[in-house]
Amino acid sequence: MCDLARRVVDVHYHAGPDLYRRRLTTGGAGRAYAGIDGWVVIKSHLGCTAASAWEARQEGLPVSGTVVLNDLAGGVHPRVVEQAVYTHGQDSPARLVVHLPTLVGPAHPSRLHRQPFHPLLDTERWRGERVLDDTGQLRRPVREVLRAARDLPVVLATGHCDREETLRVVDEAARLDLPRLLLTHATHPMTGLTPADLTRLADAPGVYVEITALTLLLGHRDAGHLGDVVRAHPRVVFSSDLGQPDQPDPARWLSLSESWFEQAQLTPHQVHAVTALNPAALLAP
Ligand SMILES: [Zn+2]
Repeated sequence: MCDLARRVVDVHYHAGPDLYRRRLTTGGAGRAYAGIDGWVVIKSHLGCTAASAWEARQEGLPVSGTVVLNDLAGGVHPRVVEQAVYTHGQDSPARLVVHLPTLVGPAHPSRLHRQPFHPLLDTERWRGERVLDDTGQLRRPVREVLRAARDLPVVLATGHCDREETLRVVDEAARLDLPRLLLTHATHPMTGLTPADLTRLADAPGVYVEITALTLLLGHRDAGHLGDVVRAHPRVVFSSDLGQPDQPDPARWLSLSESWFEQAQLTPHQVHAVTALNPAALLAP
């Protein structure tokens, strides 16, 4: 039951508790993905989902976790990563995903109707430092987290880094020999990489590129762009970034995706690669 050989592996799904209300709990998401022969990686901007993912796996559900290194959750610090690794347990066929902060810089204008999960939580109060300092260098804690990520069974993900920050993280990851790096929604306007950038990173070892359904659903990018991204890089991962109460559920996500893949003129092999093989290889121990 608990393996990554699935019809679909979604590396980015939001379940509650999170900053905003979500459609499902971790267990509920596990049941939904079990129903579509999937594996799901649960993400929360509030911090760490390792414990709830471990609990779900004890019930036979196909779930693994993430930690987002926001200040609210302990910040960019190796001990936050270590704590999450231990909590995630050693039974998972999928590595824990460690996201650089997502609560950084000015708020990204979102078209989502978001309801706070907790009435006391003022998101703006928790916006922290970006990963680069004023001179354009990666801050020391970021470099320490990258070193920790090299030595632990995790995938590092770029969170809400912009283009410049993402490229600096890629450089440092190469210097350190980091085994797995996921460029979080790389071509979303907030991140800003182009398909040409992705082609230049095609040979960067261990680098995977995420494109999310939410980016298409909110109209930031279209199916033609999805095709360009898939053809630009050999290790593209198609994820959902869903979980919002008013967005499609996992089964509907799959059926919508099929029509996008057709419009993007992807081959059956490319579809299988971006929905199952690449994300499974990214997460594999
Ligand atoms: Zn997300």
